[in-house]
Amino acid sequence: MGGGLAGAGLAGLGLVTCSSPLEPEETPGALTPPSRALQIVVVGAGVSGLVAAFELSRAGHDVTVLEARERVGGRVLTLRSPFAPGHFAEAGAARIPPEHDLTLGYARHFGLQLDRFYPEDGLFLRVRSGERATVPPSSFLSDWPDFVKIRGGTDRLPAAFANGLDRSVITAAPVTEIAAGAGNTARTTTSDGRNYLSDRVLVTVPVPLLSTIRFSPPLSAAKTEAMNGGFHYQSATRVFVRFRSRFWETDDLNGWGTTDWPEELWHPTWDAPGPEGVLLTYVRGKRADELDALDEEARVARVLAHWEEFLPGAAGHVATGTSHSWQRDPWSRAAWAEPTPTQDSELGSPLARPEGPVHFAGEHISGARGWMNGALESGLRAAREMHES
Ligand SMILES: Cc1cc2nc3c(=O)[nH]c(=O)nc-3n(C[C@H](O)[C@H](O)[C@H](O)COP(=O)(O)OP(=O)(O)OC[C@H]3O[C@@H](n4cnc5c(N)ncnc54)[C@H](O)[C@@H]3O)c2cc1C
Repeated sequence: MGGGLAGAGLAGLGLVTCSSPLEPEETPGALTPPSRALQIVVVGAGVSGLVAAFELSRAGHDVTVLEARERVGGRVLTLRSPFAPGHFAEAGAARIPPEHDLTLGYARHFGLQLDRFYPEDGLFLRVRSGERATVPPSSFLSDWPDFVKIRGGTDRLPAAFANGLDRSVITAAPVTEIAAGAGNTARTTTSDGRNYLSDRVLVTVPVPLLSTIRFSPPLSAAKTEAMNGGFHYQSATRVFVRFRSRFWETDDLNGWGTTDWPEELWHPTWDAPGPEGVLLTYVRGKRADELDALDEEARVARVLAHWEEFLPGAAGHVATGTSHSWQRDPWSRAAWAEPTPTQDSELGSPLARPEGPVHFAGEHISGARGWMNGALESGLRAAREMHES
């Protein structure tokens, strides 16, 4: 998601710097051993489902995770292609604000290293009404507090959760039906017709995808209204361009900035070796929808034509490009929940409410929508609910 959160500074939070190893520590969401071990099915291997599965299985429950995609992570997606060897860029979650104690706590628990998200040298671009200004780091970063990133890619976090489970996540297993049975039990069915019987089911799919699952009995009126478009989601698309050289450095630019397209310009390879570099545009809302209407090649061409206004000659250095639209991704259908205040007050709490043996989690039912921290918070809340039930 975006920035704009007040930061307390890396040192103030006791975060280690880039070169210090992190101390392994207990997880922020550990559960006590249960009085009775439950069979639990978790639908979705994004960070909300994974943290719940991780803590529930560590506490002694028998957990099976069913994931529609062929990978874990959901809206955490690190792209390593079509970039130079060792280069990568994030299509989804990328930066971690200093106050996101759950994200940082789990990163520490798994021994993941954190690096600064933004460079501290070079000039940032600020483009307004066609006027290009350059801004020194001290000024630009005062608007963007001390964010960090996971060294090697954000996908190391979901991978660490998945590796920490007793059982492998079952991927390429879209859930098509969830039926509550007698005695507060449930049957979950995947598209290949397999059935999974359990005491509890945790559903973590984004709200627009609830309608792809047949619930028996049907979901409450509030959840039905939300899944049928009554709970607003934001659009976000990123277009990535691989350049043969970091031509912008000849102007002392570091490859980062903001424009009134509006967009955020990121240089995710700023701290990676090699002559090549990747720049990306991060656009939301209508601008994302406009790019989505184009095919891949045309998206890259459109972004390059726009960048020509403030990075003249950029097109001459291009190796290749790619993009990711979360709206066009069949297992997300949107970027993150951004309900109106009315939708939030009327549907926010009902979306979190269990229905018989079926529980619900996901960034959309948290105090930090659009962030991994929110997804973790909701997964832990649902895990406690099931654990204490
Ligand atoms: C463009 C973008 C930028 C972001 N930037 C940041 C950032 O910088 N920092 C940050 O902390 N957060 C960021 N976020 C937010 C963060 O990525 C999400 O909040 C978080 O990953 C959501 O996790 P989740 O488990 O709630 O949902 P998801 O990750 O969507 O997980 C749900 C899972 O359910 C699966 N699924 C769907 N339907 C089915 C089905 N029928 N059967 C089985 N499985 C199914 C999906 O494939 C998916 O894996 C960003 C998100 C986006 C899109």
